[in-house]
Amino acid sequence: MHLLSFLASPLSCLFISAIVFPYPTSAQDRTTEQGEAQILDPTVECAPYQYPPVDDAQGNFPPSWTVATILSNDSDAQARYQSIEGLIPKIPPKGRKADSANGNFGGFKYDPNDPDCWWTYSMCTTPNVSGVPDDIAAVPEPNTLGYGFDDGPNCSHNAFYDYLLSNDQKATMFYIGSNVQQFPLEAQRALADGHQICVHTWSHHYMTALTNDEAFAELWYSMQIIKLVVGVTPTCWRPPYGDVDNRIRAIANALGLMTIMWQFDSEDWLGIESVTKVNNNYMDLITAAQNGTFSTSGTIMLTHELTNFTMSEAVSFYDQVASAFSYLVPVGVALNVTAPYVEDGYTLPSFAQYIGGMHVVSTTGSGSGGGSTSAPSVGGSSDGSGTSGSTTTGNSTNTSKSGAAKVSLKRVDSFASAAVLVTGILFML
Ligand SMILES: [Zn+2]
Repeated sequence: MHLLSFLASPLSCLFISAIVFPYPTSAQDRTTEQGEAQILDPTVECAPYQYPPVDDAQGNFPPSWTVATILSNDSDAQARYQSIEGLIPKIPPKGRKADSANGNFGGFKYDPNDPDCWWTYSMCTTPNVSGVPDDIAAVPEPNTLGYGFDDGPNCSHNAFYDYLLSNDQKATMFYIGSNVQQFPLEAQRALADGHQICVHTWSHHYMTALTNDEAFAELWYSMQIIKLVVGVTPTCWRPPYGDVDNRIRAIANALGLMTIMWQFDSEDWLGIESVTKVNNNYMDLITAAQNGTFSTSGTIMLTHELTNFTMSEAVSFYDQVASAFSYLVPVGVALNVTAPYVEDGYTLPSFAQYIGGMHVVSTTGSGSGGGSTSAPSVGGSSDGSGTSGSTTTGNSTNTSKSGAAKVSLKRVDSFASAAVLVTGILFML
């Protein structure tokens, strides 16, 4: 074909447009959970995107990654707080803020008899005061591990969640409200995949350092953002750093939140520099399970979806952990919490159902995964060109001013050849 006749042909239009507007190798949909879940390029996964239901509700939430307070325009929160205020023990906040809110309790004098059952002081999990239940630090089922991960949703967790999916493994995800606000489609994936969602506070500070209303707000707004984004209201929480006492327990309990702790700490939050220690911690758990330590009741270990390293460790040890224990189940499943959310229509399998092979209970109106999704739908499209928040590129770990991690995780199939690709760590628990 002569050049001039080619340029005049319909084919030329196709050819030229392909040059000017190269077709993407794979379309990326950043407006739905399903679309977002298919993105495996960490640079794309962790780039901010717009999500109108969250954007439209910005004024209903405290600033992200700062200690939450009850908003002056939030009459629901104010009324709820007033209704529970009388249930809160008269225990002053511990330490001197803001140092203590960041974990520095230096100079704080505390009764060595531990009257507040302060976990950070004595690892106490049995408050022994009326109206405040014991923390859940273990599970009753023998040879069972209550399986879960803190600090999500991590923006680059798709490869990790794919791995769990490929093993038909469900877990309990302890989500930080500010992360849910920033990466709502990642939060929705937990429910779609059949995981259990619990609260891990709004801004990830030491809760015993906060005033009553701040501690209330940290939990309240985490519950509200999960409800807005995912469509459910959790009934469980885990204190960041395990920092809880009877005052904080009472506030959580009044909000309908069960306090979930742990017995074993993987210390994966220390990062790849401590890989030997973390590996040893995993092996200690595995050895204990093999030795029959959990032959009469099971346990819980603290692990995170915080960084590429923490998720890679979970993957690396998955087979060994799974064979050392008889059962790996979400904490709620181990406790037979079959109604894990305030809303009707969302059901976790009982322990018997789960070990019998039913890892997800069908619910009315459900799509795939663990329950119906009444999360708001998004009209229009989002090109991920939002300007808020921090961004991550490549395999690096960036740290926002709050300490939130945006990390990359290579596809699961890369684990065989490369242990991890982490270049940074966070000090979160
Ligand atoms: Zn944490």
